[in-house]
Amino acid sequence: MRLIKRILIIICLILFTLILMFINNKENNIKNFTYKVDNKEIYYPVFNDTNIDNYLNNYLNNQIELLDDYKLYIDYDYQEKDDNIILTFYQNAYYNKLEVNKLKSFNINLKTSEITESNSNIKIDTTNNKSNNNNQKLIAFTFDDGPNHNTIKIINSLKKYNMSATFFILGSRIKDNQNIIKLMQEAGMEIANHTYSHRLLTNASVEDITNEVKKTSELIYEVTNTYPKLVRPSYGSFNSRIRKSINMPIIIWNIDTLDWKYHNSQKITNKILNKVSDGDIILMHDIYSATANAIEIVIPKLIEKGYKIVSVSELFYYKNIKLENGKVYGNAGK
Ligand code: ZN
Repeated sequence: MRLIKRILIIICLILFTLILMFINNKENNIKNFTYKVDNKEIYYPVFNDTNIDNYLNNYLNNQIELLDDYKLYIDYDYQEKDDNIILTFYQNAYYNKLEVNKLKSFNINLKTSEITESNSNIKIDTTNNKSNNNNQKLIAFTFDDGPNHNTIKIINSLKKYNMSATFFILGSRIKDNQNIIKLMQEAGMEIANHTYSHRLLTNASVEDITNEVKKTSELIYEVTNTYPKLVRPSYGSFNSRIRKSINMPIIIWNIDTLDWKYHNSQKITNKILNKVSDGDIILMHDIYSATANAIEIVIPKLIEKGYKIVSVSELFYYKNIKLENGKVYGNAGK
């Protein structure tokens, strides 16, 4: 009897934990799925919510007939407004690998089950006009793991306000995204090194560390005719072996927006506005729609607070700090 009681208590505890985990993780329960039909590749999130998943499935079934040789990404921004949850979907379509021709958003109000659509075209402003007022507070925006289609929207927002940023790109993404990298360069953004494969380097050999960085620098040079000056090791993880093997300044961050976790433009915006101070380096990922949306919202608010957004190299230049190879920098504050 005692044993049965104990087993029952343990089962109850496990069930309770599982229920708690389910409640806490509803937002993070989203998985990305891929399916392929003929030459068509479709990437889309699955929410484990019948209403939303049915909606997406119907939408994709209608689209597949219209697609030719095609890659389609469905990305989203998850926001809570008042008592409602509003999910905004973005359709990013690739024709012949690179061109982003369409960006569509769908707002689903879960309370009223109302679905609204809106269209917007991506237009790039490549005018480059750099000036700096010495009294201004400076912060660096850094974007990791790209580029992809969302990068274009971010570049566009930064240029609209005459700001720049540093993009720590992955070597493995360069071949398929050369146009976006050229666009970054034309728009005056700083292109930096985030290793080739994004494997964790803390347990890698000196040879592997060197190869991951060197290969990426060479690929960046092939597209831009310029070698990157800065490196951010994958996951921002480093040890003395990495520091000795990498012959460049190592840049980490002091504000982490956790954009990869929440896909929530409100949370990203609030995190930046609540924590920001002069000399900060802010970590984001340019591969998410929610991040691209946050950028559009947060820039004018930062300007209002007296901040100018610059690349990492510009930040240290204006702060009169000379970056040294093998040294690690998390901000340029005093
Ligand atoms: Zn990364």
